[in-house]
Amino acid sequence: MSFFKKDRTRKSSRGSSSSHSSNDSDIQNDGSEGRGNGSWLQATSSLRPTNGTSKISSGRLLGGSTHRSDDDSTETRQNEDNAARAASSKLHSIECQKHPGHKEFIPVGKLQPHHLPPPYRTENWVRFLRLKGEETVHISVSYTSNNRPEELGFQDLRGTTKVRIGSGTAFIMNMENTEDCYCGEIEGAHKVSGSFKVMTVAHVVFDDAEAQSTFIKFFLDDDSDSTAVVTARGERVSHIDIQRNRSVIECRTHDLTLFQRLSNSRNERMRLIQNSLSTEVNHEPMVVLISHPHGMSKCVSIGRLLAIQEEGDVKTTQEGVELIGCFLAYDTPTCPGAGGGSINLIGKGEVCYAFAPHCASHSDGKNTSGLGWTKYVKSLELRR
Ligand SMILES: [Zn+2]
Ligand SMILES: [Zn+2]
Repeated sequence: MSFFKKDRTRKSSRGSSSSHSSNDSDIQNDGSEGRGNGSWLQATSSLRPTNGTSKISSGRLLGGSTHRSDDDSTETRQNEDNAARAASSKLHSIECQKHPGHKEFIPVGKLQPHHLPPPYRTENWVRFLRLKGEETVHISVSYTSNNRPEELGFQDLRGTTKVRIGSGTAFIMNMENTEDCYCGEIEGAHKVSGSFKVMTVAHVVFDDAEAQSTFIKFFLDDDSDSTAVVTARGERVSHIDIQRNRSVIECRTHDLTLFQRLSNSRNERMRLIQNSLSTEVNHEPMVVLISHPHGMSKCVSIGRLLAIQEEGDVKTTQEGVELIGCFLAYDTPTCPGAGGGSINLIGKGEVCYAFAPHCASHSDGKNTSGLGWTKYVKSLELRR
């Protein structure tokens, strides 16, 4: 039963000092047919899951980590380089064997042109990535379903209210269609947004019971100041693909201004692309991950493309752009909690050559995405 429609017994234990970050391994996603009105980037914001079959079976869930995600994270001494960033991100004080100090992760608000590879060192690219990051959300789940299958891990947490953490991408269509709300959280008659979708991975949110204990945070960009954060709650799982480790959950927010804000952000991105960035992409590609590593504030990490593999059938958007599913391999730094974060392939003549959710981290330093979308290569060649 929806939180916003009727009273229900919540299993919440939000505020717990202990949480399990979703491991950034083994996130596999299904394809979606993009629809839009002007660009591939916009097309990918229209999420419509399909049921194709995967040709790739990468990685396995490695189980939950136990990094703390809140203010009680272990404080450690920081070197001078980190100190400058500590004001806005406590990520750099979290102990981590994978990326000690987390220098590779730039808080989204601190991103500067010099953090990007030389061909992309402009304010416009920084602005674009910050805008893109507004769709990246922090996910916490305060219940683990008894029905969770073994391959999705967290078996020891089944039936418990231990908080688990991940990242996701929000898709705003239908958010503007507000409805009356009966949640009881706010007294008196009030409205709630229309249900919108958040794509993440199946091991973060598996079924409706977990979705109803899912808490979403937009704009968690500063660990020291949460005044900008906008929250939403999960209602149900609208799509689940265990094999590819992807789930799409339907959510609602009481913040009725969120749709306009995200819509404005998307429009500004489109203007940036059309007015400048579309002519600044004939370079070696960069692969940018936007995520909430260790459940902390939003960060950007940057790396190189190692491989791209197309998957499934070509689909054509309403404006005639041909898309095909793809899996990406890259060396962009990742940490637990980054699973479900957005992987953006920029370059090779395209502002948005491909988009995919971060999936797996491998021992050889290679990371891989779940199933995403890329422009169909043959149609690109024909246009050149
Ligand atoms: Zn880490
Ligand atoms: Zn309400």
